[in-house]
Amino acid sequence: MLRAVTVFCGSNVGRDPRHRDAARGLGEELARRGIELVYGGGRVGLMGAVADAVFAAGGRVVGVIPGFLQSVEVVHQKIAAPDLFVTETLFQRKEILLRRGDAYLTLPGGLGTLDELFEVVTLAQLGRHRKPCGLLNVLGFFDPLLEQLRRAIDSGFLDERHAAILRVHQDARALLDELDGLTELAGSQA
Ligand code: AMP
Repeated sequence: MLRAVTVFCGSNVGRDPRHRDAARGLGEELARRGIELVYGGGRVGLMGAVADAVFAAGGRVVGVIPGFLQSVEVVHQKIAAPDLFVTETLFQRKEILLRRGDAYLTLPGGLGTLDELFEVVTLAQLGRHRKPCGLLNVLGFFDPLLEQLRRAIDSGFLDERHAAILRVHQDARALLDELDGLTELAGSQA
């Protein structure tokens, strides 16, 4: 069973308000299922939108932020110790984010989000964890990325089995259902 999900997403909200709606929808769904949100701790961007929705629906939130980013990403005002972790480096943040989640879920975002997405998928590819990795493909945002992965498979750079580590849905409920099912099979070595 999924107890906690680590969510990676943009520190910006994006231009289309439907991205924020999707982030809120995910937050509501996490709270409804009693799944703890583990995320980057900020109040800004889609990150803030997910956390706001979890709080509004009475759910639990764990935030992990490096001290040097506290002023830029602005720590969510509702998170306090022991649910707030302030780390020295981005690496330490990532380590806690990876450890605390039973599954990893990525929403639209920029370079930081892509970095986090590929970190969890490549660690799975190397057998360093067996936690499910999901992609919430809001408005087809990740279609070009998925096309690139298809190109990597066709070109012989990526094994189809490894590409399949990433579970993709447009809908948060369907994605959480799938990650939940996969969690039953997974150990946690990350
Ligand atoms: P972005 O998708 O660029 O808006 O960033 C989303 C999250 O990733 C934010 O919390 C950033 O602090 C974080 N981030 C940005 N750059 C990196 C990096 N090089 N490594 C890990 N996380 C990062």
